[in-house]
Amino acid sequence: LAIGLRRPWQAVDYGEVVRLFPPPPEYFEQAWYDTPEQIEHKQLSRVKERAQRAYAVPFFRKRWDASGVSHRDLTSLSDLAMFPTYDVEDIRDSVRDFPPYGDYQGLSPDQACDEPMRLYMSGGTTGKSRPTLYSAWDRAVGSLLMARYLYMQGVRPGDIVMNSWAYSTHNGAAIWDEAAYQWLNCIVITASTGAVTSTSRQLELVQTYGVSSVFTIGDYLLRLVETAERSGMNPKDLPFTALPAMSAQALEPVLGLPSYDSYGFHEVQVVGVGCPARQGVHIFEDAFIVDIVDPETGLAVPDGELGAICVTELYKTGSPQFRFNTMDLSSIYPGGRIQCECGSWQKRLSGFRGRGDNMVRIRGVNIWPEQILEVVATIPGLTSDYFVRAVRGESGDNLVVSVVSGEGAANFADLAIELRNRIKAELEVTVETEIVPPGALDDLTEAATSPKPKRFRDDRPV
Ligand SMILES: [Zn+2]
Repeated sequence: LAIGLRRPWQAVDYGEVVRLFPPPPEYFEQAWYDTPEQIEHKQLSRVKERAQRAYAVPFFRKRWDASGVSHRDLTSLSDLAMFPTYDVEDIRDSVRDFPPYGDYQGLSPDQACDEPMRLYMSGGTTGKSRPTLYSAWDRAVGSLLMARYLYMQGVRPGDIVMNSWAYSTHNGAAIWDEAAYQWLNCIVITASTGAVTSTSRQLELVQTYGVSSVFTIGDYLLRLVETAERSGMNPKDLPFTALPAMSAQALEPVLGLPSYDSYGFHEVQVVGVGCPARQGVHIFEDAFIVDIVDPETGLAVPDGELGAICVTELYKTGSPQFRFNTMDLSSIYPGGRIQCECGSWQKRLSGFRGRGDNMVRIRGVNIWPEQILEVVATIPGLTSDYFVRAVRGESGDNLVVSVVSGEGAANFADLAIELRNRIKAELEVTVETEIVPPGALDDLTEAATSPKPKRFRDDRPV
């Protein structure tokens, strides 16, 4: 019965994995400093191979045939722009038309004895979740990339770490575990969230075993730290030596440890990580090509301009992702491929600005509600609680921007003028503004009932 059964350790040539994708710490000693020529040479040979594989998958073949391109047209990196992009709506349509896996998988479940695989779903915060089949190779490289992230955040080989992510249908908890165990020889305590292992018990584990870092989200780590403080501890006395928790920047001064930004998503796992220079998120360019495109047309935008992050992975053997328009808004760090203060030539993503599918076109200008928040943040007296409505009046379309202020109502009129002028100067569009007291927007943002407050509504008649 074992004849024909290929186990994960047989299905993956680990020597080949580390030759193509160096793990940490080696990665940060050599490949991190690859020259632009070295980076682009690797990318071109890898993307050609990926294109060939994607063309064998119906989802991609249909789109490429319709656009009149095939993998044979890819002879330089600039040729990539000819290939059509797709987004989550296209993936959802594929799942609907070819249930339950869609026609975008490069693997089929009936191959599992020969090609060990895992099935994970996206979080599905909006709409139905998206299944992805991962080969054993994809898991090996994906966790290796995650280990690079952990290493940059200060996790070191042999550390005792605690994984406080919840196991669910997504690959979140698993990839952190695999990264720490498989690539950094960390001793992983699997605690899960506070609902599974109480926060006081987690704190006890941290102290008893000298846990050097906790894998979780910044908000939960903060709760853990506050629990320690209530028991009379100074947070700096906790045994932490690294801060790899996601969105944990606010904890940097509390714990005296650095925390760098990152970017990643379900289908491809972690794409890049920031560095001590704190000037954008370096893309792991041996494993990804990232373009910034216009969220509506999919056409490339110049370096430095805001658009949607479009990702082509260069490492998978299972389900390809070839020019996936993520609709996450960002820009390539101004100047394109320039050397960072840290010495790396890898391109950087600068500042994440929200979702491209929120884009609203007002009198010919593309606006994202998140851009408004950036302007709001520069005005003293305003909070980050805001709501934007698109309306249609007699003089055409308009935006109404409402922002909460904790100051007295006497200042509201002045603040509204200041906000309007600042938006005009920064975004080159005239809008209506109003300042409101705390709580006034709660019905619109659904702050009390929604885990993620809403910030935009289009009230224009269709
Ligand atoms: Zn850097």
